Amino acid sequence: MFSASNRSVVDRRSWLKALTLGGAASVFSSCAEKKPAAQSTPNNKVRGVIFMVSDGMSPGVLTMAQAFSQQIRNSGTTWWKLLNERSAARGLMDTQSANSMVTDSAAASSAWGSGHRVNNGMINVTPDGKELEPIAAVLGKKGVRCGLVTTAKITHATPAGFATSVRNRDDEESIALQYLNRVEILLGGGVEYFDPASRKDRKDLFSEYRTAGYEVIRNREQLQSVKGKKLLGTFHAGHFPYNIDREQNPDLMRDVPTLEEMSRAAVSRFLEGNQNFLLQIEGARIDHAAHMNDIGALLREQLAFDDALAAVWGMTAGHDDILIVVTSDHGNANPGLNGLGSTYSDSNKAFQHISGIKSSHDKIFHDWESHPGSDLGKLIQQQLAITLQTDELDALQNILTNGKVNEWNDLLAKPEGLLGQFVGNHTGIGWTGTSHTSDPTLVSAVGPQSERFSGMVINSDVFGHIVELLG
Ligand SMILES: [Zn+2]
Repeated sequence: MFSASNRSVVDRRSWLKALTLGGAASVFSSCAEKKPAAQSTPNNKVRGVIFMVSDGMSPGVLTMAQAFSQQIRNSGTTWWKLLNERSAARGLMDTQSANSMVTDSAAASSAWGSGHRVNNGMINVTPDGKELEPIAAVLGKKGVRCGLVTTAKITHATPAGFATSVRNRDDEESIALQYLNRVEILLGGGVEYFDPASRKDRKDLFSEYRTAGYEVIRNREQLQSVKGKKLLGTFHAGHFPYNIDREQNPDLMRDVPTLEEMSRAAVSRFLEGNQNFLLQIEGARIDHAAHMNDIGALLREQLAFDDALAAVWGMTAGHDDILIVVTSDHGNANPGLNGLGSTYSDSNKAFQHISGIKSSHDKIFHDWESHPGSDLGKLIQQQLAITLQTDELDALQNILTNGKVNEWNDLLAKPEGLLGQFVGNHTGIGWTGTSHTSDPTLVSAVGPQSERFSGMVINSDVFGHIVELLG
């Protein structure tokens, strides 16, 4: 299924050999040190870039997702296979923003989307207030098509960083308007920013998009039969539900597509014809599960992202002009499996506990709050397969009802931080906090010119690479 992607390394090698006439070995060592400038030979021409973002994925998640995938489906992940792919590039992404070593998604996506580091909270607007032209607009003038796919609201920061400029990332009504005629395929959540009933300005964006030639769809079934070239698909009011909860709910299964399904719909449209394209695909809720210190939800989101990667890699296998880049915008709470027991021999068993988790922590808190008098301990027992000790349950109920807590780590002194630690007592998973971290993220790339994404990649250099490749 994936063998065709070996093709590009063969092409690249013959190109490098042609450049140096027999100096192949020295070329390869210098290539590893210095990324090649754009070359326009037929063999390394890029028609499409598919930029895949596992939002908020700390590096340790890759290893845990591999183990979890083997545990629950007897096979490893596609990203792991990609690391073993000879032709693939491997690197780290330096993710800091203009005002912090720790970026948010708005500044991170702006770095990719405009080539400038901006302050957290802003999208493609410099610290001194200058609006920057986003990559979808820059490339759009050159006839490049653009698409955005996410499990968050489609107006959320990571997709918005490729196609909009706003002073405040929360200005999602403006983001929904700026996409019109700039982005051809929009698939995700966020009905509320297109629907006149929920927009403050009462504009009916669904009808404006329809008038502009978009096919507007609202559920999973429509996605499966959709014919249009330009698509606006919003499948949920806000962000998509976590997969772990979606899979327990027939209504959500009926209405909300998977990231893989949306990715297939987008990629198949861009592969048709011969126009250049840029497609961003975001697994958004990995980040949200990390904020919640929720390992069950997080690993299932990461596997859903991985399914999308498998689909994209498989669909593009026969095309030697498509570059796939897989990365994350920043780390989040840095989850990791700790050594448990003498000689750490209890760690594997603890990790296996994760497969028995049936719902997100978010849903547990929500269910408990929306059913006054319900038994929190019992809910946790049913959904997370753990029995809290009396003092653990007291601490959790105290912080939920009156905000009081005995917790020495300020970063964890909140309900999600406490529940994450209690679950960690059974799974071996620890967290550094409940917010983003400064760690570099992983980046893998396969396809023509993938070498540009090896070594240490500065997030704001991504813009220049993509514009050179597609523009
Ligand atoms: Zn976040």
